[in-house]
Amino acid sequence: MEIQEILLQQRTFFKTQKTRNIKFRKMYLEKLKDLILQNKSLLFEAIYKDFGKSEFDTTITEISFLLNDIDYYLKNISRLSKPEKVRTNLANQIGKSKIYSDPLGCILVIGAWNYPYQLSLSPIIAALAAGNCCILKPSEIAPYTSQAMAQLINENFPPEYVYAYEGGIKETTELLKVRFDKIFFTGSTKVGKIVYKAAAEHLTPVTLELGGKSPVIVTGNANLETAAKRIVWGKFLNAGQTCVAPDYLLVQESVKEQFLEMLRNYIREFRYEEGSEQYTRIINQNNFHRLIQLIDQEKVYFGGSSNEEKLYIEPTILSPVSWDDNIMQDEIFGPLLPVISFNNFNIALTHINELEKPLSAYLFSNDQEEKDAFIQKFSFGGGCINDVVMHLGNENLPFGGVGNSGMGSYHGKYGFETFSHRKAILEKATWGEPHIKYPPYSEKKLKWIKKLL
Ligand code: NAD
Repeated sequence: MEIQEILLQQRTFFKTQKTRNIKFRKMYLEKLKDLILQNKSLLFEAIYKDFGKSEFDTTITEISFLLNDIDYYLKNISRLSKPEKVRTNLANQIGKSKIYSDPLGCILVIGAWNYPYQLSLSPIIAALAAGNCCILKPSEIAPYTSQAMAQLINENFPPEYVYAYEGGIKETTELLKVRFDKIFFTGSTKVGKIVYKAAAEHLTPVTLELGGKSPVIVTGNANLETAAKRIVWGKFLNAGQTCVAPDYLLVQESVKEQFLEMLRNYIREFRYEEGSEQYTRIINQNNFHRLIQLIDQEKVYFGGSSNEEKLYIEPTILSPVSWDDNIMQDEIFGPLLPVISFNNFNIALTHINELEKPLSAYLFSNDQEEKDAFIQKFSFGGGCINDVVMHLGNENLPFGGVGNSGMGSYHGKYGFETFSHRKAILEKATWGEPHIKYPPYSEKKLKWIKKLL
């Protein structure tokens, strides 16, 4: 079916008001939950074919994530949808003021390939919970997962409510010409700009979930052993193809040698070897070559080997690296960890605050002054102190970037708000109103107005 035709059907269906009904929303969220549970093996198989992601990793970073999301909304839709009562000021008496969460209409969700299920379906779940119709455009870079999601959605949901439209740049460009009520995009900053420009043509609001170079800082006041273990996990999970993975490491010179050794030991302990079930492969040849070119063999502290046929790149630590090196210019999005050392924490913080605002940032330190400075002096989307990546697993925290790493946020109630319009309603009584705002004006009325306002 033509996409214009689907959108027309969705607009017509949206106007029937059926999606406003909370029972209707819950019924389809339950249905999506059942579909995910019943089709786990299809989902595991597809993602394994796309980039060798294991059942374990897929379970913890994709499937359970989505099931938790659905459960959250099933439990909270009624509360989130309730009109919020707010105070009414003196000038508007006698009256009542409320904010209604209005569904926006037809939503376009454009997904990225690196967590294909989570990044495509989590926004869809929030959009449906908020009472919208949706079109999903999964990433063509992960074709098997794209096909699996399209199959599940298009065989089980009415197209006038939810529809998956597969395709690459050509199809997305076509989609972007159409007028939606909201576009939710996950992907690179470069394509984010294309989406934003296209949306501006129709004044369509956007949420842009982009990337960036997310630093992890380890100071001399950190618990080094814990820091090393958590950084190795967060960096090499999904072979570094994680938007919130630590991109590079800033480590205090005094603990650098000791810390690098710990990182090396954990990489060995976690067994990220070629062919290992623990370790995902690089998504495609293009990315493989892009990453290989970033490895300066003279700076390899650990790793550095690769196998093109198997799209394997060994977890690699590069040290010492300088700010001018190639690897420090763009988001790495792969299993390479450049290391830069610093002597003065505040100078290091000032330096990274001059760069583009990253999606995430992480600090390992037990010093309160360092923690305060990290939060107050450095602008980034979100992050952790003494951990990496895990902040996005807490549905009570908004997830999103700032500046070059994006705009808007989602997860939990923030996802619901992202796909709702906050409609303000003031309801006035038809009695008890003083006549002072109405003409003819007089000095006396002005005196009263000044007093009241
Ligand atoms: P991408 O920008 O190449 O692609 C994302 C989507 O845009 C895909 O669906 C693709 O089909 C479409 N697209 C690609 N080129 C297009 C064009 N010229 N016109 C219109 N549409 C186009 O990103 P990717 O490679 O899938 O993902 C990697 C990037 O996404 C990284 O920068 C990463 O940090 C970021 N990312 C961010 C998040 C987040 O939640 N903030 C999550 C995952 C990935």
